[in-house]
Amino acid sequence: MTNVVFFKDIRFLHKALSYFPLQQFAGKKVPLKLHMGEKNNQYFVKPKLAKRVVDELKKVNADPFLFDTTVAYHGLRHTKEGYLDLAKLHGFTKENVGCNVVIDDTGVITVVEGRRFEVADRLKEATHIVALSHVKGHIQSGMGGAIKNFGMGGVTKETKTKIHDGSSPVYTKDACTYCGVCAEVCPFHVINVSEDSWEYNENGCFGCGVCVDACKNKAIKNEDADIQFLLACSAKACIQDKTVLYLNELKRIARGCDCDPNAGPIVCPDIGYLLSDDPVAIDKASLDFINRVKENVFLKVNKVNPMKQIKYGEEIGLGSSSYELIEL
Ligand code: SF4
Ligand code: SF4
Repeated sequence: MTNVVFFKDIRFLHKALSYFPLQQFAGKKVPLKLHMGEKNNQYFVKPKLAKRVVDELKKVNADPFLFDTTVAYHGLRHTKEGYLDLAKLHGFTKENVGCNVVIDDTGVITVVEGRRFEVADRLKEATHIVALSHVKGHIQSGMGGAIKNFGMGGVTKETKTKIHDGSSPVYTKDACTYCGVCAEVCPFHVINVSEDSWEYNENGCFGCGVCVDACKNKAIKNEDADIQFLLACSAKACIQDKTVLYLNELKRIARGCDCDPNAGPIVCPDIGYLLSDDPVAIDKASLDFINRVKENVFLKVNKVNPMKQIKYGEEIGLGSSSYELIEL
């Protein structure tokens, strides 16, 4: 069974790493995959934590660099140059973290479950990767952790757009009874149903799939598939056949994602850190910890069940949701 190590204090990171064969990272160029925060977001992983991980990798003679990809929406992170400026603004400099910061804008097509995902060049090249993921809520997938760090964060902006578009709802008039359930459950109130009409505002839709799950008549389907399924597939495209260690930070657990300048409020008190070599196990353990402190909090605040990405991840062989917890 997969080990997931829990520790409250980051000073136990070195001890936690001793449960995994970190020596295998010696002599390797190692992307440290993380989200360096959207402008005005306050909750993202901080440079001090990144430096701790960098220092541990250097101790085994690995050659780490901080790594992320450009995003599809407008703003500084849309381009490599803009993202590097923002990273600097957030304190991710060579001086602060002890290694280079690299942003990719291009990738290599990788097929998983019959779908094509453009995996960022640096991830595709790497044989050894460390993921540093901030665990928080997410409007589309309920939560963001290790799976989402790669599923959305490890691919090009073209693939990010494709994942978003692939989860758009498609309506079939003939199957609809105008019951209005979809309109009631839509977290963004973009569906309007009357006696004989169904409309939705495509621009306000986040592709969360809540309406798809709620419609008992199957009058709404995803354009391609559930976003959480696509995220799990995309994550697998990024990490398959590689040696990857995952560090999840369960602190500053906000309602929304690090991409959101207004991600607050904090919905769960700080818990600590989890370390594993399995992205599904570590996200499941993260969710279990959070649910013990604040039961179903992500489902309550975002109306999207975060377990789906874990279930899909397990189904496609991304990892296992069973784990052995080691508490330091
Ligand atoms: S839940 Fe389904 S059947 Fe009911 S109004 Fe919405 S689309 Fe139509
Ligand atoms: S996918 Fe989500 S946001 Fe879009 S219409 Fe359905 S419930 Fe609303």
